[in-house]
Amino acid sequence: MEGLLIGLRDFAIEKVVSHVPPVFEARWTGKNTCPHCGCEKLRIKDSFWRTIRNISIHGRASRLLIRCHKYRCESCGRYFNTRLAGIKVWSRTTELLKRNIFQAYNKGVSCKDIANEHRIGVASVERYYHQMMQHKSSHWANRTCPRILGIDEHRFTRRQGFATTVLRLGPPQGI
Ligand SMILES: [Zn+2]
Repeated sequence: MEGLLIGLRDFAIEKVVSHVPPVFEARWTGKNTCPHCGCEKLRIKDSFWRTIRNISIHGRASRLLIRCHKYRCESCGRYFNTRLAGIKVWSRTTELLKRNIFQAYNKGVSCKDIANEHRIGVASVERYYHQMMQHKSSHWANRTCPRILGIDEHRFTRRQGFATTVLRLGPPQGI
C-alpha cells in the first residue's frame, strides 16, 4: 500500500515529513548485496540521506528522503553505497518520474508545462527525455527480430479506408 503511494516497490514510508509539498522519509526494504561479488555479509561504515524527486501526488511534485549506507563487503573488502531499485546510482530522480515525463512529452505536453508540474528546469526535462530515448532504442536494438509476421486488414468506412495491422506472432510451438 505504501509502496503504491510513491509508485515504487521495496520502499517503506517511515514518516510523512510534509504534505504540501509531499515529502516522505523512506527506507529501502530490498535486499542489499555487494555489486562486486554478490555477497550479503556487509558492514555499515557510514550513513547518509539521498533526496530524490519522484512523481507528482495530487498535482504536486513529491520528494523522497532515503536513508542510505556506505557498506564494506566482508567477503571482497570493497566499499559501495546502497543500491536502490528504480533509482540510478548518481541520479536525483526516480526512473518512474523520468518515464512519466517521457510519456507526457510524447502526448504533446510542452517542456515548459512538464517542468512547471514537476518543479524542475526545462533542461532537466530534455535531459530525462533523451535518457529515456536512449534506453528505449537500446532496448529495441537488443530485441530479436520476429520470425513470423502476421498481417491483418480492417475496413472501416469508405472514407477512412483500410487499416493494416502488422503483428508479431510467437515462434511456432513444438518445432
Ligand atoms: Zn563483495
